[in-house]
Amino acid sequence: MTLKNIIAIIAISIAITANAEKKLSGTPMGTGLSNHPIQHAFDGNMNTFFCGPNANGYHRSWVGLDLGSPHIITRVGVCPSIDRGKDIQLAIIQGANNPDFSDALPIAMIDEKIPNKTITYFDVNVSRGFRYVRAMAGPDGYGHYAELEFYGNAGAGDDTQLFQLTNLPTIVFNTPGMAEIKSKDDKHPGSFVAVISDDGKSILSDNLAQLKGRGNSSWNMPKKPFQIKFNKKKQILPNAPAKAKKWTLINNYGDKTLMRNKIAFQMSKDAGMTYAPYCQFVDVIYNGQYEGCYQLCDQLDVKPGRIDITEMTPDDNYGEALTGGYFLEIDAYAYSELSWFASTRGTPVTIKSPDEKDITREQKEYIRNYFNKLETALFSSNFKDPTNGYRKYLDLESFLRYFISGELNGNTDSYWSTYLWKERSDPRFHIGPIWDIDLGFDNDKRTYPISQFDDFFYTADCASAAVGMKNFVNRIIKNDPQAREMLTEIWSDLRNNGNFNEKYFSDLIDSYVDEIQQSQKLNFIRWPILDKVVHENPMARGSFENEIRHVKSFIAERIKKLDNLIGLKQSGIDEIEFDPEMLSDENIQLFNLKGQKVNTTTPAPGIYILKMRNGTARKVLIK
Ligand code: CA
Repeated sequence: MTLKNIIAIIAISIAITANAEKKLSGTPMGTGLSNHPIQHAFDGNMNTFFCGPNANGYHRSWVGLDLGSPHIITRVGVCPSIDRGKDIQLAIIQGANNPDFSDALPIAMIDEKIPNKTITYFDVNVSRGFRYVRAMAGPDGYGHYAELEFYGNAGAGDDTQLFQLTNLPTIVFNTPGMAEIKSKDDKHPGSFVAVISDDGKSILSDNLAQLKGRGNSSWNMPKKPFQIKFNKKKQILPNAPAKAKKWTLINNYGDKTLMRNKIAFQMSKDAGMTYAPYCQFVDVIYNGQYEGCYQLCDQLDVKPGRIDITEMTPDDNYGEALTGGYFLEIDAYAYSELSWFASTRGTPVTIKSPDEKDITREQKEYIRNYFNKLETALFSSNFKDPTNGYRKYLDLESFLRYFISGELNGNTDSYWSTYLWKERSDPRFHIGPIWDIDLGFDNDKRTYPISQFDDFFYTADCASAAVGMKNFVNRIIKNDPQAREMLTEIWSDLRNNGNFNEKYFSDLIDSYVDEIQQSQKLNFIRWPILDKVVHENPMARGSFENEIRHVKSFIAERIKKLDNLIGLKQSGIDEIEFDPEMLSDENIQLFNLKGQKVNTTTPAPGIYILKMRNGTARKVLIK
C-alpha cells in the first residue's frame, strides 16, 4: 500500500467519523389541521404534508419531534408541500429543552426558496443539545411541510457554538405560550430573551424578561417595534455603554435604508451633543418568526451610560436635592402620558424622570415652575446681556448643537418631540438627546423635498415645529444676535475642524451598508416593500441602494445649504476691513497668494497674506 493510499484511507475514515450522524426519530409534535396532521411531515411520503391553522396574520404553526433526550443536531432536511417552497422561505428551525419550547433557540433558517418533491438539506452548526426540535411556519403562518428530517447525535452539548442569523447579533424572544404582543401596553412577563453574538460564540439570556410593544405611529406598522425589560440590569452587548433593564428594538419599517436613526445619532455625537443613544443593528426572531433587521437602542432614561445625571429619590423634596436631576420631553403627545404638565404658555411637557411611580408633588411642582421660568425669560428677554436673560436657564450651546443636528438631518419632528434635562445644582436646562429620526433625511412626504425651503427647515409650515415650538426656536435663532453668532461659530468649527463634510458621512454610511448587507437582504424578503410607498414615504425608490444613495446626496446638499443659511467662516482666514494706511506701517507687509508683495493701496478684494515684521503671518480676506 502506498503512502498516498494510506492517507486516502485515513481521510475517508475521518470523514466517516465526522459524518457519524444518525437520522433521528421521535414522537411528532405540532399544531396540524385534521386533514394535514403532524404525522404527515414524518411519513416518508412527499405527497402528504403538514399544514397548520393561521389566524389573521398572527399565528405560529409548527411541527417537530420529541427526541426523548437531548441531541446535538447536525443537519435538517426539508421538503415543502407542492409549490410552497416560497412560503416557508425565512422559516426558522428551533431546538429546545422545555416541552413548551419556551427556551427555544434557532438552529437554522430556510433562507432560500426550496423545491418540492425533494429534500433540501441545511447544515446545522450548534453545539447545544436539544430534546425538542421543530420547524416553524414561514411568514405566512401555515407551515407547509411535506417532509422533515433531523440528523445528529445524542448529547447535552455545550454553548460554545450557537446559531446567529447573519454577522449581526441575533435577538430571540419567546413570550409565554407564544402569545402575540398586541399593543404597547400589552406586557408579557416571564418571557424568554436571548442575545446571540460574537459569531454565535456568546449568548446572554433571561427567562424572566418582560416584553411589550412601543412607539407611536411605528406601532401601527406590520413590522412591530418592541421593548425588552430584563429581570435584572444587563449590559446587553459588549459595546453597550449602560447596564440596564430596559432596551428598545426600533423597527425602521418606513425607513428603507434601515439606518436613518443610526446615522443621525452618530451625526449628533459629531455635532458635539453630550449624549447620543446607543444603537446596534440586530436581527430579530419573535416567537419563532424572523422579523427582520432592527436597531437595538437604549431606552431613554436616567442612569450611568445613558442620561448620566443624578437619579432622584422620593426623599429629594427641598433645598439643593430638589433641583435635579430631571429628564423631560417637550412632547406633542404629552397629554397621553401619565406624568406631564402644560407650561403657562401651553407647551406640553412629559416628565420622563423621576418616573410617574416615584415622582413627588414637590418635584413635579418644582420642575414645572422651573420650566415656566425658562419660557418667561426667553419670551421677555431683550437679549442685551449675553450672560443673563433666558441663558440663566438654558445651556444655549446644547440647544444650538441640537438645532444643527435637526437642520442637517431634516427630521420633521425635531420640535414635536424635544428632550431636555436638568442636573442637580445646575441652573440650566440642557437640550438632547435626539431621538426617532425615521422621518429624517427627506423621508416625509409632508415636507419633501426639503430643498424646496429657503429658510431653516424648522420654519416650514409643514414641519411639526409649526405646531408649538416654532416661537421658542424663533426667539433664539431669529431674535438673539449673540445666539446667531454662536451658531455660526459652532457650525464653522464643525465644518473646518470636525467631521461635517460630505466624504465623512458618505464613508460612514458605506460602513453601515457593509455591516447590514446580509441582514438587509433578508429584511426585504420578509418585508417586500422596496417598490411600495409606506408610512410617510414621499416615493418608493425601488431598491435599498437607491434609498442609500438618496440619503447621501441629501446630506451633501444639506451641508451646502446650511453653509449659506448659518454662515460659514473660512478656516484660518480672518476677515478684515482694509485700511490703506496699514501699508504705511513699516511693520506690516501684504502679499498675494503667489507670494508677490502688494504695493497698491487699493488691493482687489480677495485672500492675502498679511506678514508682520516680527515674522508672524495670517491669511486675511479683504472685501
Ligand atoms: Ca409526508
